[in-house]
Amino acid sequence: MTIQSQGRYYLDMARQVSKESNCIRRQVGAVIVRGTDVVAKAANGTPAGVKPCSEGGCLRCQSGAVSGQEYEACLCTHAEQKAIALAAKKGISTDEAVIYCTLRPCLTCAMICLESGIRHITYADDIIFSQDVEDAYRQLIAETGLVITRQGTSNVQPL
Ligand SMILES: [Zn+2]
Ligand SMILES: [Zn+2]
Repeated sequence: MTIQSQGRYYLDMARQVSKESNCIRRQVGAVIVRGTDVVAKAANGTPAGVKPCSEGGCLRCQSGAVSGQEYEACLCTHAEQKAIALAAKKGISTDEAVIYCTLRPCLTCAMICLESGIRHITYADDIIFSQDVEDAYRQLIAETGLVITRQGTSNVQPL
């Protein structure tokens, strides 16, 4: 498989997984691949044990919170964080793995990817962040050598 077709394959898988999201605002999927092994896959949504977002589990998602605001009160875990946490729960290393995401990871998710040894992110849809976030993102990439590639064409607004 070429890098391109491999990317498409795992992004398709991430897209499939995103459909399992219980979040009423947006459905995002992430797949972590180490070598040829799918280590973990997850969709965003409320944490294990919490009522699904679609059943009122996240008050912030239900509220009229404006895009990008009141994130501190959001109970929906991002797909990337869920996938990394799932790998940890199963006791499977994510070191040197690649993560495939349906949406460009937020800054926090990119930071957590690095902390978990994931140094390559491939995503499909782009998202518009504030200039401060873009500047921090650029710094993160410049200082760590994080590889971030995109295969996709659509742009979306922050939640
Ligand atoms: Zn939600
Ligand atoms: Zn995130």
